[in-house]
Amino acid sequence: MEKERLFGKTLDELKAVAAQVGLPKFAAKQMADWLYKKDIRSIDEMTNLSVKGREALKEYYEFGLTEPTKVQASIDGTKKYLFPTDHAKFIETAMIPDDDRKTVCVSSQVGCKMGCLFCMTGKQGFQGHLTAGEIVNQIRSIEENGEVSNIVYMGMGEPFDNLDNVLKSIEILTDDWGYAMSPKRITVSTIGIIPGMKKFLETSNAHLAVSLHSPFDEERKQLMPIQTAYPVQKVLDEIKSWEFGRQRRVSFEYIMFGGLNDTPAHAKELARILNGIKCRINLIRFHPIPDTPLKSSNEETLQSFKDLLNSKGILTTIRASRGQDIYAACGLLSTKALVKKEE
Ligand code: SF4
Repeated sequence: MEKERLFGKTLDELKAVAAQVGLPKFAAKQMADWLYKKDIRSIDEMTNLSVKGREALKEYYEFGLTEPTKVQASIDGTKKYLFPTDHAKFIETAMIPDDDRKTVCVSSQVGCKMGCLFCMTGKQGFQGHLTAGEIVNQIRSIEENGEVSNIVYMGMGEPFDNLDNVLKSIEILTDDWGYAMSPKRITVSTIGIIPGMKKFLETSNAHLAVSLHSPFDEERKQLMPIQTAYPVQKVLDEIKSWEFGRQRRVSFEYIMFGGLNDTPAHAKELARILNGIKCRINLIRFHPIPDTPLKSSNEETLQSFKDLLNSKGILTTIRASRGQDIYAACGLLSTKALVKKEE
């Protein structure tokens, strides 16, 4: 019988586990402490549970951590971890150090079904959802475990296409019985799946990032097929009905494609549609991927695009490219070759 993993269970789920194996109710909290607050990796090390209780637990459950099978380090300090998931699939996780911060960019799915034109993960197609445990494991099982300051859900996959597991992972990361991290240190990035975004805003105080990439409907549709189901104007209308500012922030991601979405007309239209939203825009350099006609904008264009938006009162920054030499930069994560090899 395949054993279930304890790592990735919420306190309520651990209460059910305790009842199932005949442990007292308070053992759920003890298990949560061992899983999320201490540096152990096996049920045998949960020494405040009775020996009999641990044996009963081991009949059905395993601790449930997964080690990375490969680590690559960039010349700029960024690291990329490769984790196996169930059914011989793989996901990638990036760790980006910056002064005293260590940001981990986690994946939420194996591949992705959203088909954005500029993205390697999108080209890989969809191979499965990650469980909450597999998402949190990307923070727990890296060398920087214990030093992580920020978490961004910007790796492989669309988080709101795997909403339940993503929300559960945020619960584990932020609840007192879990990692007790401030939601202010967590950002979830979406291409704008409105129902998922709504539920996320209702249940979590983590920050939201929305990928725009064009303010014009037809052009955005070419870059991001999701525009047909959830037009950007509807996404922005939803965002306008929530309060953003000091506690929870919303930012917009904008990849700059040379000669396509980097003109002054784009900047002006962006400023117009974002009018009234307290936000920030992150401009991202495009890293060319194989078989694409898309190009990067040049530095001068990037700078003047940024200046124009700032002059319109929208706080705009250019995101530093990190980990490009190890394909850990934005839009470059893919485990397609590995998936094929293992199947
Ligand atoms: Fe999926 Fe995000 Fe890539 Fe689009 S950009 S294909 S949503 S991983």
